[in-house]
Amino acid sequence: MTLTVDHGHTVLEAMAEHDHEEVVHIHDAASGLRAIIAIHSTALGPALGGTRFHGYETELEALEDALRLSEGMTFKAALAGLDLGGGKGVILGNPDTGKTPELLVAYGRAVESLGGRFNTGEDMGMGEADIDIVASVTTHVCGGSKARGGSGDPSPWTAHGVMLSICEVLGRLDGSGDLSGRRMAVCGVGKVGRPLVRSLVAAGAEVTVADVSDAALSAVQAGVDVTVVDVADIHRQHCDVFVPCAMGGVLDAQTVPELRCRAVVGSANNQLGTPDDGVRLAERGILYAPDYVVNAGGLISVADELVGWDEARVRARTEAIPTTLRAVLDEAEATGTCPSEAADRLARTRVSRRRSP
Ligand code: NAD
Repeated sequence: MTLTVDHGHTVLEAMAEHDHEEVVHIHDAASGLRAIIAIHSTALGPALGGTRFHGYETELEALEDALRLSEGMTFKAALAGLDLGGGKGVILGNPDTGKTPELLVAYGRAVESLGGRFNTGEDMGMGEADIDIVASVTTHVCGGSKARGGSGDPSPWTAHGVMLSICEVLGRLDGSGDLSGRRMAVCGVGKVGRPLVRSLVAAGAEVTVADVSDAALSAVQAGVDVTVVDVADIHRQHCDVFVPCAMGGVLDAQTVPELRCRAVVGSANNQLGTPDDGVRLAERGILYAPDYVVNAGGLISVADELVGWDEARVRARTEAIPTTLRAVLDEAEATGTCPSEAADRLARTRVSRRRSP
């Protein structure tokens, strides 16, 4: 999706473009909190989506991210078969220097004030300990620590779903999902990327990684054999699968022609800069596994907390992700569209069926 919120385009017009229900701007002078919560849809149920703490360059960039991510959550829940809507919170600031307990409490109060229309959890820049603080003032939060009654960080479930999706895609391309000797290029080795890299290496893949954080790189290198390259070069690696696990928008008019992979399968939300980039990938013969289909494991885990977290159920639902991915790729083939368009269409169909009685 493309959103153009600028001086000639109001927030309400941007909301109308993709049918967002509600956007809340939050400012708390005492703690310095500046945040935006976007609720895209509650057609399937209350909105659920993580909160991202990020040093956005501008407020506009943060708003666009919230609008895009919240729509993605609607589609993600719809295709994961969950009766939940889509929303997303973004906190503007540097998560390393700007995150204080007071600020997180103020954010929790804002979530509470929405009365359950929006439930949240971790996203980039937010961890289990942060969620525990948010949970001290609102019940509308999931993914806090197990010690405090939460279901824990959902990222390993996201990593598991991505790993299975990589195997599914390789099986589709080559008739075998065996990872031994396959080359993977992973961009971003944080909460999702790190466990994913470990699983890929354990399955025999040759893994190249990049991250802007030296600490993240050191953590992933401990105990596993990976090659590190510069962030600017990771998408240009010769590999079977490019695995974006950091920021969105990594697939665009500049990067897609530079890819040297056969498939893209990663956890990052909103990997396509614009819908045209999905077509661009297809034209280059690169199989794209739509992000919100393959990264649903974390959502599946936090959503389960709302009904009493059960590991067996979360595992079964996460392990069904490759089946959903197969249906999306089959639909794309059958209709001659690219996978991202096919996924959007299937998701919209489920949401609109619920809307019309
Ligand atoms: P994280 O903050 O734990 O890790 C992200 C990593 O990416 C960090 O190590 C960071 O240093 C690195 N990074 C940031 N900018 C980068 C850049 N430009 N190039 C390379 N590396 C960069 O976040 P996460 O929870 O692992 O999430 C990663 C992505 O997956 C995000 O897009 C997130 O929205 C998405 N996602 C996460 C989950 C989950 O369960 N955590 C679920 C679904 C989707």
